[in-house]
Amino acid sequence: MTDMKLALLGRRGAGKSAVLVRFLTRRFIGEYASDANSLYHKRLSIDGRQLNLEVYDPCSQSSEARCILEEPVDWADGLVVVYDISDRTSFIDAQSILRQIREARTDNCKGESGVPVCLLGNKQDLCHARQVREDEGRRLAQESRCHFQEVSAAEGYHDIAGLFTRLIRRVMEH
Ligand code: GDP
Repeated sequence: MTDMKLALLGRRGAGKSAVLVRFLTRRFIGEYASDANSLYHKRLSIDGRQLNLEVYDPCSQSSEARCILEEPVDWADGLVVVYDISDRTSFIDAQSILRQIREARTDNCKGESGVPVCLLGNKQDLCHARQVREDEGRRLAQESRCHFQEVSAAEGYHDIAGLFTRLIRRVMEH
């Protein structure tokens, strides 16, 4: 059994809990109590390997990007940065979070071998109210050398499951 730790980062309301609950339970829970730091556990098998996954949804009560970092960046083996495509402020927070992750990597002397990260543009179902273009998300991910995908926690399980599986594989190869 391999232990693996992932953390979700992003502005409050971006849908971190919804994304995580969708991944863990396959269900969409509209109003999840996301006012506390939450640690979730799941056992799963990927490529024949048994994993004991811990996922941390930290500090979601804060709208301050700054407070979220350091601790999860040091703690986690992989990070998911979430923004809401219908909320530009959440995208600006995601930019700031990715910058801080890069700086934390440099400080830790981990360089490019720092933890795998993926950037997630959530609430794709709200594309009629879109404030962040898909190519802006893609470009930010390229700059940060991380994987990017737009998803909807409200509408689908497969994209989100695929994204976590991909991140977990990258962590295993790391
Ligand atoms: P967190 O603060 O980042 O953990 O965000 P939550 O998971 O609590 O979600 C904030 C709000 O956005 C809640 O009202 C969710 O129901 C809603 N939400 C989350 N994901 C989606 C989505 O993919 N589409 C839509 N339309 N709403 C979503």
